[in-house]
Amino acid sequence: MQIAKDTVVAIDYTLKDDQGSVLDTSEGKQPLAYLHGNGNIIPGLEQALEGKQTGDELSVRIEPADAYGERRDELTQAVPRDLFQGVDDLQVGMQFQAGGEGGGQIVTVTAIEGDQVTVDANHPMAGVPLNFDVKVVEVREASAEEKEHGHVH
Ligand code: ZN
Repeated sequence: MQIAKDTVVAIDYTLKDDQGSVLDTSEGKQPLAYLHGNGNIIPGLEQALEGKQTGDELSVRIEPADAYGERRDELTQAVPRDLFQGVDDLQVGMQFQAGGEGGGQIVTVTAIEGDQVTVDANHPMAGVPLNFDVKVVEVREASAEEKEHGHVH
């Protein structure tokens, strides 16, 4: 069966940046299952998988515009350290869930200077071209309920 809108697809994948570092992989885990054609995975990967079938393997490089978007400098801002009350040992690289507008956003601490903490609300993979090695493990028709919900059960 071919991958098309409203099929449930299971893939094994390894994701690397242009330097060859592994950013994410399904190795040692369950394959990733998703409902195709519903925006549940990044657009570039969804496009590359369209029409493929069980057993197919592909390597695809996806530009940021078809992945997590370009980096936006305006999403970086300096905030007072007071906002991190309760964090004993604040360090660069720590991630926090930010409330407020568009709430639920993950921000990453990118610098700490005195009372000023710089946080970056860009997706960690924004601006990064993604290199996927993918193997299609399973393709099946989605159930009526899965189609209705727009995701895999
Ligand atoms: Zn559901």
